[in-house]
Amino acid sequence: MEFLPLFHNLRGARVLVVGGGEIALRKSRLLADAGAVLRVVAPQIGAELHELIDSSGGEELLRGYSEADLDGCVLIIAATDDEPLNAQVSADARQRGVPVNVVDAPALCSVIFPAIVDRSPLVIAVSSGGDAPVLARLIRAKMESWIPPTYGHLAGLAARFRHQVKNLFPNVQQRRAFWEDVFQGPIADRQLAGQGAEAERLLQAKIDGEAPAATGEVYLVGAGPGDPDLLTFKALRLMQQADVVLYDRLVAPAILELCRRDADRIYVGKQRADHAVPQDQINQQLVALARQGKRVVRLKGGDPFIFGRGGEEIEELAAHGIPFQVVPGITAASGCAAYAGIPLTHRDYAQSVRFVTGHLKNNTTDLPWKDLVSPAQTLVFYMGLIGLPIICSELIRHGRAADTPAALIQQGTTSNQRVFTGTLANLPQLVAEHEVHAPTLVIVGEVVTLRDKLKWFEGAQASI
Ligand code: SAH
Repeated sequence: MEFLPLFHNLRGARVLVVGGGEIALRKSRLLADAGAVLRVVAPQIGAELHELIDSSGGEELLRGYSEADLDGCVLIIAATDDEPLNAQVSADARQRGVPVNVVDAPALCSVIFPAIVDRSPLVIAVSSGGDAPVLARLIRAKMESWIPPTYGHLAGLAARFRHQVKNLFPNVQQRRAFWEDVFQGPIADRQLAGQGAEAERLLQAKIDGEAPAATGEVYLVGAGPGDPDLLTFKALRLMQQADVVLYDRLVAPAILELCRRDADRIYVGKQRADHAVPQDQINQQLVALARQGKRVVRLKGGDPFIFGRGGEEIEELAAHGIPFQVVPGITAASGCAAYAGIPLTHRDYAQSVRFVTGHLKNNTTDLPWKDLVSPAQTLVFYMGLIGLPIICSELIRHGRAADTPAALIQQGTTSNQRVFTGTLANLPQLVAEHEVHAPTLVIVGEVVTLRDKLKWFEGAQASI
């Protein structure tokens, strides 16, 4: 190991920064965040750095560096573009045995800055010993995505209860098991969901030995339109800690793969006989599983609140006092439009976009057709394949031009995506010609022509 990672308590300590430019500013920001008192020496100092020095209660020396500037400093940073000067500062600091960092010159450093993931009080530092800072930064970026921004609050929660837990369990093993349980269970979930008071209440109850409430929790998670890359961080985190996952037809297998390996998976979509599990049965199942203390993920295609019957499911949960969270997902309209190269709105073509269900009750034309024919409006039909001939003819009958551009996007965002463009007049014919199947989204409006203008082609999105 070339460098030993240590975390430096700089609160109230004086740190010398030699240099007044952009790099000095960047380092100074970190130092000020850690509570250091800045002493900056440079013939010129930028306005932002000036303010930072001021607010850190530090001092600004508008002149060249001199060895005496090191007096009283616990850490030295050389951030000038003058190499001999940087080398001089490094030599002076080493002479005195004070840690020194020279920006972009690992050989002159006794300490180096790592890439940092800050979830204070939890801080993760990554270093390549100065050999490959870009690699360290890439690893940092990965960690930023794994670890939710509120993760540090868990450490705060632990800090508040540390003494109580220590008194309760003098034995280290017991303590460890206790905290592992807390950090991976419903208490942590509450804290991460921003319900700090509830997390504290549960933790106190656990310490007091009260039997934990047997109720689990339900997460209504939007899984997006198909490409697993379009999941949110929150969706992925909850999927990886679920005890049970209820999913339906629209959830792509590649997404299901990302759920916790040993989670029970329950399919509630269409069965072989083509009968979907009735909605009220799903609602009851969610309640029953949560009552067994399970953490249940109800995984839904797209967004749970857009034609996803999410509203009905949470109504039932609320009625039974089951805690739940709703995680939004990328809805099919956004996903398919982006991957097919069709902007849903555009200054010149569409000032509004409307998401419409194409599922016609009893095959009747019960949509507000008059509202749907305004020319500067994009229409997106979900579940519109079966009723497509009616949809197209009614739109034309109510005044939308027969040559209005329209698109069909089948299995959008997945590797099986197919896109067909035509007009209101020939769209049903395209369905028959190309054997278009569900799930397919229908987009109607001038914006569809932009696909050609943008010279979009299948595979234009890197992830397809
Ligand atoms: N809650 C979902 C929509 C459920 S309704 C969402 O927000 O996306 C089901 C309809 O969504 C399908 O009939 C189809 O019209 C559309 N749909 C969902 N995923 C799709 C996909 N990957 N490609 C095309 N259409 C899709």
